[in-house]
Amino acid sequence: MKAFAMLKIGETGWIEKEKPVAGPYDAIVKPLAVAPCTSDIHTVFEGGVGERNNMILGHEAVGQVVEIGDEVEDFQPGDKVVVPAITPSWNTREIQNERHQHSGGMLAGWKFSNIKDGVFAEYFHVDDADMNLAHLPENISLESAVMITDMMTTGFHGAEMAEIEFGDTVAVIGIGPVGLMAVAGSSLKGAGRIIAVGSRPNCVKVAQEYGAHDIINYKNGDTAEQIMDLTDGKGVDRTIIAGGNINIFSTAVKITKANGNIANINYFGEGENIPINRAEWGCGMAHKTIRGGLCPGGRVRMEKLIELVKYEKIDPSMMATHVYEGIDKIEDALLLMKDKPRDLIKPVVKM
Ligand code: NDP
Ligand code: ZN
Repeated sequence: MKAFAMLKIGETGWIEKEKPVAGPYDAIVKPLAVAPCTSDIHTVFEGGVGERNNMILGHEAVGQVVEIGDEVEDFQPGDKVVVPAITPSWNTREIQNERHQHSGGMLAGWKFSNIKDGVFAEYFHVDDADMNLAHLPENISLESAVMITDMMTTGFHGAEMAEIEFGDTVAVIGIGPVGLMAVAGSSLKGAGRIIAVGSRPNCVKVAQEYGAHDIINYKNGDTAEQIMDLTDGKGVDRTIIAGGNINIFSTAVKITKANGNIANINYFGEGENIPINRAEWGCGMAHKTIRGGLCPGGRVRMEKLIELVKYEKIDPSMMATHVYEGIDKIEDALLLMKDKPRDLIKPVVKM
């Protein structure tokens, strides 16, 4: 089968691979729509998770089941499914102690385009189909559905880790598709004022649609200063980091009030250490909580997010600014994610 792969750090290309085969609990899925992620860019062009050779890229897909293992109960060939970016093993010992994202080791729930072949192919293999797939309802578009698999679960996880309470002032640093979903998630969680940081015009427009009240352009001056000015020097209750490089942490620590929460959902592909400013962290005593997390995956998470789209609490398809047709367009779509033209939020490729 034909697939688009990371050949080695810094290099991508089309390859031929054997069509995968389903084990007893697994499924083989034919993608109907896929989307490239900024994480694919960190992985290929920064070598964020280390060297990978001829690994098929992509971890965001909606598809149709074409083959199932003998033990799969709830899915049949022909079923349309939402496939989470995170497809952990649900029968490991450590899953009883830890978050499923780290079942089998740190970040090991993230299999596609990290530790196994991803979804940019004619077919892909899904572990533990009954636990990792969700049925796609009729009234949800492919554009919306593909956003659920990663963008929505990640952005919403930012709002979850920030532990937003009614009326909180929340800063969302970065309003690419991940940050936009953090804005929407913060809004649904009851944030009062939402301050969003970014500069691409379509991202700004959609941030406002999803509930951002103030927009800060980080190119117009120091982000922390701008946010402190907006909040009369008080800062914000919660900060979600969804953009910038490792230096963005010092901005987050500066703008977050004592006792506040900082939730990071960025993938830092480069740099040795992440700086935290001593004084603004109250010399270590300010009760500013810092969390960072990989998005939740698995079937139940997908089913719950599907409910939010199905019952029109949110329309994630607004982020699909560039929609392509045909597997051949995957390369163009991935390069858009690398170059980030000013009008881009997120490309989707319908297969
Ligand atoms: P984008 O590149 O589309 O968005 C990044 C945003 O950050 C943009 O709004 C950008 O502004 C803004 N930004 C860039 N530099 C700065 C800066 N110095 N200060 C403030 N804002 C800045 O990325 P995505 O939304 O696609 O992804 C965001 C991150 O989430 C990536 O690192 C990605 O790998 C990661 N990710 C993590 C997951 C997880 O499970 N935790 C899952 C999926 C993705 P501008 O408008 O100017 O472009
Ligand atoms: Zn991703």
